[in-house]
Parts: sequence; structure tokens; C-alpha cells
Amino acid sequence: MRAFDFSRAESVGNAAQHGNAETTFVAGGTTLLDLVKLDVMRPAAVVDINALPLKSVERLADGRLKIGALVTNTDLAHHPEVKRDYPLLSQALLAGASTQLRNMATTAGNLMQRTRCPYFRDVGSACNKRQPGSGCDARDGINRMHALLGGSADCIAVHPSDMCVALAAIGATLTLEGPSGEREVAFADFHRLPGDTPHLEHDLAADELITALTLDAPLAFGWVTLSQAA
Ligand SMILES: Cc1cc2nc3c(=O)[nH]c(=O)nc-3n(C[C@H](O)[C@H](O)[C@H](O)COP(=O)(O)OP(=O)(O)OC[C@H]3O[C@@H](n4cnc5c(N)ncnc54)[C@H](O)[C@@H]3O)c2cc1C
Repeated sequence: MRAFDFSRAESVGNAAQHGNAETTFVAGGTTLLDLVKLDVMRPAAVVDINALPLKSVERLADGRLKIGALVTNTDLAHHPEVKRDYPLLSQALLAGASTQLRNMATTAGNLMQRTRCPYFRDVGSACNKRQPGSGCDARDGINRMHALLGGSADCIAVHPSDMCVALAAIGATLTLEGPSGEREVAFADFHRLPGDTPHLEHDLAADELITALTLDAPLAFGWVTLSQAA
């Protein structure tokens, strides 16, 4: 494993100030540390964001549910409002990984996890996602778990998150924060198809942090509101 600088962010603004192409945030560390040990990710600096106040789940007035970026996969799966209003999300989270991993894994980390394509994780293989222009050994390799839809000549890796499949069906918005302030991105627009730039995976700048994920209001919320109004 290569050496890197390590620091702890004390505020969201402070974390964003650290952000650049050579710096990576660490939350639960369940993906990042594996990839650093495999030499797939080589950050010069790692910023620990675990002290940031991004661990709450809040019902908004319009019925949406706002989830802090650092809410763990376990806490989210077992949250009473998630279990009641978004059972799909709860079940998707509990279908993934193990209890120990879900206790550490965070909402934003889950969104940002990298592909489990074995050629991406093997630095001896050609992979356009890991090293642009190097080729794609998956195309003629062992690829029955790879993309049927959305792949390209340069990359057929899939996103590995169970949670993200549920989010695509539910509908959600991401809140991103960087030096120029806060912005919102529809979840469906956040991850990119590989095209000829598979190393560009999402719509997050290097100096931005995901601060929250807001789920669309559940259908039941609209129904209850309408029935109360009638
Ligand atoms: C053995 C194993 C089995 C697994 N099985 C499954 C499975 O079946 N289904 C499934 O869906 N997942 C599975 N996972 C993946 C797991 O869900 C992810 O590792 C986890 O969700 C990542 O969260 P984390 O907080 O640990 O992220 P970290 O490892 O801390 O970070 C991952 C990435 O997210 C970035 N990041 C983290 N927080 C932020 C933020 N707030 N803003 C911007 N960037 C951020 C980091 O910089 C890093 O690039 C498995 C993982 C392991 C190790």
C-alpha cells in the first residue's frame, strides 16, 4: 500500500477546501481501503469526513425524506420511516454485503462505490476505467455479470450498488456542496454511462462533497394528503 497524507475535516466547508484530484474522502472506508490496498486507487491524501454533522434522517414538509450522507446502511435499512414508506430501499440495503459491512458503510459511500469488475480491480489487466486508453480485458474475458444495456466499446462494467437500483425506482435528489456553494442533482442524472470516458463515473467535482440524499415523497404521503383534503 502506498503512503498518503491523512487529515480529518471539521466542517463541510473545510472538507470541500481539501478536495482536489489527488485527494479522496473516506467515510466507512469499506470500498476505499480495499482499492487503495489493491493499488487501484492511489490518493496522495485522504480526508476523514466522519466527524461531519451528516448523520440525521429528516422528513421534509413536502413529504420527502432527507438522509444525511453519513447515515449508515444499517441505520437507513432499519429506520422506521424507511421501512414503512420505502420497503424497497430497506430490502435492497439488507440484500447487500454483510451486517458488519452495513454497520460501517454510509449512504454517500454506497453511491460512490466503484465497480466490482475483476479486471478493474486487477492492476495487471487492461481497464479503461482504471487507466484511460489501456483497453478493456472484460470484453473478451469472463463477463457474464457485465452490462447487457448501457455498456460501450470501452467498458462493460456495471455499478455494483443494490441501494442505487432501489433509488432509481423510488426517485431521489442528491445535495452536493463545494467551494461555490450547494447544488442539487437528480439521482437519475448523477451516474454516467461509460461511453468513451468510463473513468468519468459521476457528476461530482473533485472539490465537492455529497451532503444528503433526498427521497421523493412516497405515494402514500400524497394519498394521505389528498384524502385529508377531501
Ligand atoms: C465484501 C464486500 C461485499 C459487498 N457487497 C455489497 C453488496 O452485496 N451490495 C452492495 O450494494 N454493496 C456491497 N458492498 C459495497 C458496500 O456497500 C460499499 O463498500 C459501501 O457502501 C461504501 O460505503 P463507505 O462509507 O464504506 O465508503 P468509503 O469506502 O469510505 O468511500 C467510498 C467512496 O465514496 C467516496 N465518498 C464517501 N463519502 C462521500 C461523500 N460524502 N461525498 C463524496 N464522496 C464520498 C469516497 O471518497 C470513496 O471514493 C460490498 C463491500 C464489500 C467490501
